[in-house]
Amino acid sequence: MVHEGLKRVLNGLVEAAQAAGRAPGGVTLIAVSKTFDAADIVPVIEAGQRVFGENRVQEAKAKWLPLKMQWPDVELHLIGPLQSNKAADAVQLFDAIHTIDRRKIAEAVASEMQKQGKALQLFVQVNTGREPQKAGIGPEEADEFLQFCRDSLGLEISGLMCIPPVDEDPAPHFEMLKKIAARNGLRGLSMGMSGDYAKAIACGATHVRVGSAIFGLRD
Ligand SMILES: *Cc1c(COP(=O)(O)O)cnc(C)c1O
Repeated sequence: MVHEGLKRVLNGLVEAAQAAGRAPGGVTLIAVSKTFDAADIVPVIEAGQRVFGENRVQEAKAKWLPLKMQWPDVELHLIGPLQSNKAADAVQLFDAIHTIDRRKIAEAVASEMQKQGKALQLFVQVNTGREPQKAGIGPEEADEFLQFCRDSLGLEISGLMCIPPVDEDPAPHFEMLKKIAARNGLRGLSMGMSGDYAKAIACGATHVRVGSAIFGLRD
């Protein structure tokens, strides 16, 4: 079955990768289904998409426990802020967390992964725009935080994630993220949304998080 929004974004992804001289298979599309319900999500699964993103643990649990029964090969990524009291639920439900950004969360996730015997893909969120209201570790603190996650907690970190300020050209933020990743030996770059995923792919994104371009506008 064909889903128009998904098809358009997949075509855009392939085009952007080819234009950058990259293999399209090196970019994972995370279909961000937050606020959309099963009736909107099922057609996207039936069209072949298997990686989805949600920003709230409780919302994701309610929606995806039944959907995962039917499609156990779906991979779920948490892309919104995590509180430590939700770490157990998050580790149980999700396959990846993109928002590790402080010691307390890193510790809670590390301890839950050990308890549940489950390893998730982990991304450290960097607040590249240094916006006070936004989550993420400051760019100046990133190296030390990564060292803490790896050396003190024994976590394997897959990469870095950022959400550039809405009113700025995202490219310098993507470049900054890439630079921090490179000097820390990290390959994963979770960056790019509906409006700028092509630019993010040009800058090296390995994971793009695309919602409205697939599902339509949210309320
Ligand atoms: C909602 C969201 C997205 C997707 O945004 P769109 O503009 O709908 O593509 C990506 N990343 C994060 C962290 C989000 O919260």
